[in-house]
Amino acid sequence: MRPTPRPFVAFFVVASISSAALAQGVGYTDTPMLPGQAWKVHDKDRPNPPVVDPGSADAPAPVPSDAVVLFDGTSTDAWQHGDGRDAEWIVKEDGSMQVKPGSGDLLTREHFGDCQLHIEWATPKVVTGTGQGRGNSGVFFLGMYEVQILDSYENRTYADGQAAALYGQYPPMVNASRGPGEWQSFDIIFEAPRFARDGSLEKPAFVTVLHNGVVVQHRQEFLGRTAHRAVASYSPHAPKGPIKLQDHGNPMRFRNIWVRSLASAEEQAATETGRRH
Ligand code: MG
Repeated sequence: MRPTPRPFVAFFVVASISSAALAQGVGYTDTPMLPGQAWKVHDKDRPNPPVVDPGSADAPAPVPSDAVVLFDGTSTDAWQHGDGRDAEWIVKEDGSMQVKPGSGDLLTREHFGDCQLHIEWATPKVVTGTGQGRGNSGVFFLGMYEVQILDSYENRTYADGQAAALYGQYPPMVNASRGPGEWQSFDIIFEAPRFARDGSLEKPAFVTVLHNGVVVQHRQEFLGRTAHRAVASYSPHAPKGPIKLQDHGNPMRFRNIWVRSLASAEEQAATETGRRH
């Protein structure tokens, strides 16, 4: 019998395991470069942001008097599925609504453009899955521009896919996540993109995100409509659209969701001078 070259065998086993793990959970090497950045889409080598402890959460945040309430703990009436079905997500006794995996994303019946959104969310207390498979959802403005929701508490994934990332585009500045099962919040100021009559982009979308009260995106520009394993790009659409919550197969909970529409600069000027469009 020939002697076994053990060091060689061990080397190849380790190498193949680590490359499989990287491909599955931590990032990609075969995706295109992000324009204006030094990284590829979902780059496995992009450093994850530093961790910040945001402090503990107590009661839900107060609701401003001019807010449109999208979920107050009692009813999913403000929401529907993409095909027009009434919302099938589950209203629970604790005042949350929980994703019913497989039922599909939920979209607001009302459409919004520029807005301020408050939303509270909790990932499952019992951790199952890893990376993108662990506590995944997302908030999509106009149904297209995603701020990622993920259990990013000691859960490694590609930097541009962790909680509060503009998915596939920009990681948050810091990781302000709370632990599995704890209530977390996003306060988001979203500016919708503007398109000229000929369909060309006049102004991209911008977003500011506070995660558990910590600024993690500061008027960050969206490169385009959220995409997976591809560079995002814009195509023209209406100035308003539904706010979408993603069913990614995890039993995520949401509570205390409200939105305030923000006037554009032109609308604000018209209001101030008493003129109408
Ligand atoms: Mg998501």
